Amino acid sequence: MRVAIIGAGLNGLACAVMLKRLGVDCVVFERGTGPRDSGTGIYVWPQAMQVLRFVLKDRAFLSRGQPIEFLDTHDKHGRLVHSQPVRPAGLGLPAPAMMFLRTELFRLLADRLDEDDIHYGMGCESLENVGDQVRLTFTNGHRFDFDLAVGADGVSSTTRSFVNPGLVPHDTGLVASRGVVNFDSPLLHSDRCQIFTSRHSRVVTYPLNKATSLRYWFAAYQHRNQPLLDRQGLLELFAPLPQDLLRMMGQTPEEDILTHKLKALTGEGQWFRGRVVLLGDSIHAMLPTLGYGLTLGLENGFMLAQALVGHCDESLEAALQRYEIRAARRSREMLQVMNDFTRLYYFEPEGEVSPARLAPIVQRFQELAQSTVF
Ligand SMILES: Cc1cc2nc3c(=O)[nH]c(=O)nc-3n(C[C@H](O)[C@H](O)[C@H](O)COP(=O)(O)OP(=O)(O)OC[C@H]3O[C@@H](n4cnc5c(N)ncnc54)[C@H](O)[C@@H]3O)c2cc1C
Repeated sequence: MRVAIIGAGLNGLACAVMLKRLGVDCVVFERGTGPRDSGTGIYVWPQAMQVLRFVLKDRAFLSRGQPIEFLDTHDKHGRLVHSQPVRPAGLGLPAPAMMFLRTELFRLLADRLDEDDIHYGMGCESLENVGDQVRLTFTNGHRFDFDLAVGADGVSSTTRSFVNPGLVPHDTGLVASRGVVNFDSPLLHSDRCQIFTSRHSRVVTYPLNKATSLRYWFAAYQHRNQPLLDRQGLLELFAPLPQDLLRMMGQTPEEDILTHKLKALTGEGQWFRGRVVLLGDSIHAMLPTLGYGLTLGLENGFMLAQALVGHCDESLEAALQRYEIRAARRSREMLQVMNDFTRLYYFEPEGEVSPARLAPIVQRFQELAQSTVF
């Protein structure tokens, strides 16, 4: 079987390494002109750490990230409101959660592929099922046939418009700014994610490297169709929060702060059509409320690989159906839980996050997170 993966994001790369490890011939097509060498931080839950351990073969990658054991929620005065263990007792999750620089993860995955496994400057323009093959046409006019195409081309996916044209990203009404900075403060822990809630907005921060005090932060708020805030605007919006958070954002060079409106998908409808199947943000882009988007994509990539390698029937359709059944239901439930968190953090009429409102959503999240691929 020859597989084309559209998109060299983290899900596309991980899927390629996984399939190659399992003996499947595959190649990645990326519309960007080279490997991604920028980005901020990304949080990886234990469920996805297990997938990475499988994909990357050894444990060496563990030294490239920062373990995080708790997610702490604080109020605007910095008081602890809720503390959620990432590995609750009794779950037996045999991996830590970790925070990585995105570029580290890109490098870790791309290093497991050969140079000619990834073709840059290859934007996929259209797809067509032709018999038991899929025909891909690229913006530079090249055209190739494969047994299967995996659409890992992110939230503005071209492959999704072929597989599931009715599913379009919606504006969540939120915007996030994020940055990385060397910063130390007695308020901030070197092994915890800390969420500071203000009215309909939050600043979230994670340590990236305990030894160097490198730290990742993101600040999210409702955009209300107004111009997006620059660094000074963020400092004014978050002025009620503890001063150290403002110093942390203030010390991040303005040009290094990434700001985007947040779009999301519901994951409803078809996940595959003929010989084209969707993976990652192309089908389930979610708000980064708990930083679970990549984890879900990696878990689903593992399920896809299992389905493709483990099928005994002649037809590929049953394998893809199996993937859709396993991945879609759980992903939709996870998206629903993230929406509930989002509503609570950003749209709660009372404007405050109370432990009583948080606890049942955390419990639902933990129940879902238990049913991992491993
Ligand atoms: C502010 C923010 C913070 C986040 N934080 C976290 C976090 O801490 N933890 C977490 O798990 N998740 C987090 N997420 C979500 C996470 O970043 C995504 O779920 C994940 O990166 C998606 O990876 P992907 O490979 O599916 O898509 P992408 O990263 O979007 O990659 C898609 C790739 O496809 C390429 N492409 C697009 N169209 C084409 C085409 N037509 N032809 C060829 N190539 C194409 C693109 O250039 C890109 O390289 C966050 C998201 C946001 C917005």
